[in-house]
Amino acid sequence: MSKYITTPIYYVNGEAHIGHAYTTFIADSMARYEKLKGEDTYFLTGTDEHGQKIEESAQKNFKPTQEFADEISAGFKNLWDDFGISYDKFIRTTDEDHKKGVQKAFEAIYNKGDIYKDFYEGHYCVSCETFFTEMQLVDGEFCPDCGRSTNVIKEESYFFRLSKYEDALLKHYTDNPDFIMPRSRANEVINFVKGGLRDLSVTRTSFTWGVKMPESIKDDKHVMYVWLDALLNYVTALGYGTTEENMSYWPASVQFVGKDILRFHAIYWPAFLMSLDLPLPKHIGAHGWWTRDGEKMSKSKGNVVSTREVADAYGVENLRYFMLREVPFGQDGDFSQRAFIDRINSELSNDLGNLLNRIIGMSGKYSDFEIDSSDVLKYHKKELDAMNIVLD
Ligand SMILES: [Zn+2]
Repeated sequence: MSKYITTPIYYVNGEAHIGHAYTTFIADSMARYEKLKGEDTYFLTGTDEHGQKIEESAQKNFKPTQEFADEISAGFKNLWDDFGISYDKFIRTTDEDHKKGVQKAFEAIYNKGDIYKDFYEGHYCVSCETFFTEMQLVDGEFCPDCGRSTNVIKEESYFFRLSKYEDALLKHYTDNPDFIMPRSRANEVINFVKGGLRDLSVTRTSFTWGVKMPESIKDDKHVMYVWLDALLNYVTALGYGTTEENMSYWPASVQFVGKDILRFHAIYWPAFLMSLDLPLPKHIGAHGWWTRDGEKMSKSKGNVVSTREVADAYGVENLRYFMLREVPFGQDGDFSQRAFIDRINSELSNDLGNLLNRIIGMSGKYSDFEIDSSDVLKYHKKELDAMNIVLD
């Protein structure tokens, strides 16, 4: 059976940081592992390029929006290429095929009766592209996710009947206890759903930088909500709504996300898929966050770890090893130069370096450096099979 592994598509409002690299290293390692075992594996990454925030960032940089998105997107792609990330496709939400696929999906959900038109009035955080209820705001004004102040917006909007899928979602979490990994993260999702789901606003009229409505609906004022557009990339990348050429890879084996976007992937995304009559991904894997020297990283503090700088200074393999080794999957981790250097010195230079040295010494001494590669592969296959983490 084939494997399909995804990272989130990264938002092009800023350059790649260590959090992006972490998700990408995890997904890349899993994809390499499956490919090494001989599994037919498809690995997707890419960039998320629509929404008001991108429009505004482009304006601030005095650039046409598409040009701005092109530059940041290329930055991500170049970094992954320089890091040897083994993706099979790099999708951009400004790709024509993606936009067509999203329109097809919107149409299908609409025709099913799961989308209706109404008015939305709520507190909107431009930075997170998310509406919040009064209850969710901090001190009645500030975004609970990023802390920025929110605006009250009333606008005509199309809504997705998310509330209709409450019971089906809860049943899915119960029937599939490994749907959300690690399991410890499932409770926050289940409690959120149990708290009651409100229908989800899935279009905007306040900006234009987004996927246009399908022609059959004829409502040019609206563009699609960035999360609907973005989440659908996981199937449009396989040709959903257009060529369908790689749809046999669906459902995904595992979709890796940061814990901050778990709610979107474990609630909205499966609900959209149910509405589209598509099977749900086998696993949503949510990893933790990185701090630096015990402190939260932020642009304003100027303490964001530049992935490229670390990789240039110490080598990408060292960085990859450190991040994957330092933190059990799902937990938060701390990046410090001390911890990084200690781990590389003790585990890679000393332990692994020593092992390699001895092997080379022994193979010279006992076999004149000749080892039959088929024997090695045979041994590896047994070992890898024994370690197999069953994803199905
Ligand atoms: Zn926010």
